[in-house]
Amino acid sequence: MKDVQLLPEMQQKKSGVTRRSFLKTVTGTAAGIGIAQMVNPALIQALEKGLKRHPVIWVQGQGCTGCSVTLLNSTSPPIADVLLKVISLQFHPTVMASEGEMGMENLYAIAEEYKGRFSLVVEGAIPTAEDGKYCIVGEAHHKEITMVDLVKEIAPQAGSVLAIGTCAAFGGIPAAEGNVTGATSVTDFLKDNGISTPVVNISGCPPHPDWIVGSIVHLLEKGIPELDEEGRPMIFYGENIHDNCPRLDAYEEGEMSETLSDPKGCRMDIGCKGPDTYADCYKRKWNSGMNWCIDNAVCIGCVSSGFPDGTTPFYEPA
Ligand code: SF4
Ligand code: SF4
Repeated sequence: MKDVQLLPEMQQKKSGVTRRSFLKTVTGTAAGIGIAQMVNPALIQALEKGLKRHPVIWVQGQGCTGCSVTLLNSTSPPIADVLLKVISLQFHPTVMASEGEMGMENLYAIAEEYKGRFSLVVEGAIPTAEDGKYCIVGEAHHKEITMVDLVKEIAPQAGSVLAIGTCAAFGGIPAAEGNVTGATSVTDFLKDNGISTPVVNISGCPPHPDWIVGSIVHLLEKGIPELDEEGRPMIFYGENIHDNCPRLDAYEEGEMSETLSDPKGCRMDIGCKGPDTYADCYKRKWNSGMNWCIDNAVCIGCVSSGFPDGTTPFYEPA
């Protein structure tokens, strides 16, 4: 994929990513929720100078591509523009132009060229059973390349690894009970293979786009963010949902919802896992700030390392 330079202001307008719209994504949607104060000044400076761009290689293992979709669906500005023109997205199986052997050769060439300086984004778990044959990600020189082969080869060359989504961060649905494919989290996989590249877990099924973009921007401007004990950025995963829930008063007064359509009551009796879940969904919300799970259903603890086995049945009390 051709590396795209960040263009001067006029050309930025032509391309669809203006300085204003980029700032809106990385700070506007994050205003008042932690990252703005941490990242803004450095980011603005970087933009004034002509933004430093950070090479990213994005690979997909055992997942549903939902993490890419959540990111690419983001607006103000479209995340695809941010990824293509602001950071330097060098490889992404869903959105890149090249394909097949050419795409794989490009991936290896980029990893070599940016050795130690690029971030490897892993979406999906890594299936390790049967020599990794459950997930073939490409072919080179008439040889199939498994997700296992790819991560083993590329991760040691990366400066950092971002495990995007609960499947990559903790194993998630592919590693749920049954797990015939030997689905493994990125952290466990790297550990098992003696690879010491630092990992940032951005869990969620899918993660919020701001968590992904915010973490990448933090990496770009300030290095690896402060992580919790499960390797997730504290700025996004540091707070308990129940403790901050708008229905906490109802909980304390014993007003419990019996149905999902109840506009006010606490959802605990119908399965809410908010008390065991740490993420800032309650104030960030989803669908461009429109709503979040507890408005319409319950928190199923999708960001948690125990998801889904530890949080099912979703609609029964924990
Ligand atoms: S709805 Fe869930 S998160 Fe909110 S107060 Fe009740 S149990 Fe806690
Ligand atoms: S509210 Fe709970 S289930 Fe919904 S996105 Fe946040 S952590 Fe996941």
